[in-house]
Amino acid sequence: MADERKPIIFSIDDDPQVLRSLRRDLRGEYRRDYRIISTESAKEGLEALVELKKKGEVVALFISDQRMPEMLGVEFLERAKEIFPKAKRVLLTAYSDTDAAIKAINEVQLDYYLMKPWDPPTEKLYPILNDLLEEWQVDYRPVFRGIKIAGYQYSPKSHNLKDFLAGNLVPYQWLDIEQNDEAENLLQLHQLDRKQLPAVFFEDGSILSNPSVQEVATRVGLQPKAQSDLYDVVIIGAGPAGLAAAVYGGSEGLKTLLIEKRAP
Ligand SMILES: Cc1cc2nc3c(=O)[nH]c(=O)nc-3n(C[C@H](O)[C@H](O)[C@H](O)COP(=O)(O)OP(=O)(O)OC[C@H]3O[C@@H](n4cnc5c(N)ncnc54)[C@H](O)[C@@H]3O)c2cc1C
Repeated sequence: MADERKPIIFSIDDDPQVLRSLRRDLRGEYRRDYRIISTESAKEGLEALVELKKKGEVVALFISDQRMPEMLGVEFLERAKEIFPKAKRVLLTAYSDTDAAIKAINEVQLDYYLMKPWDPPTEKLYPILNDLLEEWQVDYRPVFRGIKIAGYQYSPKSHNLKDFLAGNLVPYQWLDIEQNDEAENLLQLHQLDRKQLPAVFFEDGSILSNPSVQEVATRVGLQPKAQSDLYDVVIIGAGPAGLAAAVYGGSEGLKTLLIEKRAP
């Protein structure tokens, strides 16, 4: 599996040394199936989570320290839950934080609290995380990674965009704003409202709201404008006849332009 397609294990601790050893242990055991991301700052962590969500990435597991200067681990996990509600949540605590951790089990629906230090990890870390990740895998459906279009089912604008992408064999996922919660989540994430529909979400996290077909065509790598001022032969229509003529023209060395209004 390509690294960026793997689900993520997200760990956070303001103590660089603790974070380093946590990352080392996580990498050692889970690198093959998960991407390990770690940060020392809760605020930066939350910003990174929003960006990951926009790119359609998935977090499987959060491991957070409890005592951090910017916010408590419990608060971090609560906010992270709003972005990735299905991820498992583990709090990393020192002995003195046990009471807070027990309270948090109910409040944040914590899945586990781990005591520092977790040596040896084969006994105190991996068995617990393995169980949680196994549980998470049961409900996990890999998300669609290509273009997503959100809009109203009977909107002509939505229909035109879908028709254009389908005609050009560009895979996309349709999200009906009235039927699909993910559509509403994506709008909120990108701070859009329903008046700006249809919206097209690209895999790199960028969006186009209420775009023209030409704008979408450019983004999917099609050429909406002629590159030169002058051609030897111009063919209108890329049906079988037009395509055959263009191939002949090109193979004879003629500078050939093929113009198609919908899809070849
Ligand atoms: C329902 C149906 C089923 C068919 N089934 C078969 C079959 O099974 N087997 C078979 O061999 N044939 C079949 N045919 C026939 C086959 O589709 C046609 O013979 C063939 O498509 C004709 O090719 P063409 O290039 O002349 O025209 P078209 O395929 O019609 O191509 C014309 C192209 O020009 C484009 N265009 C039009 N105006 C403009 C403009 N102003 N600017 C830019 N582009 C423009 C259009 O979008 C289109 O892509 C079927 C036809 C239909 C309608």
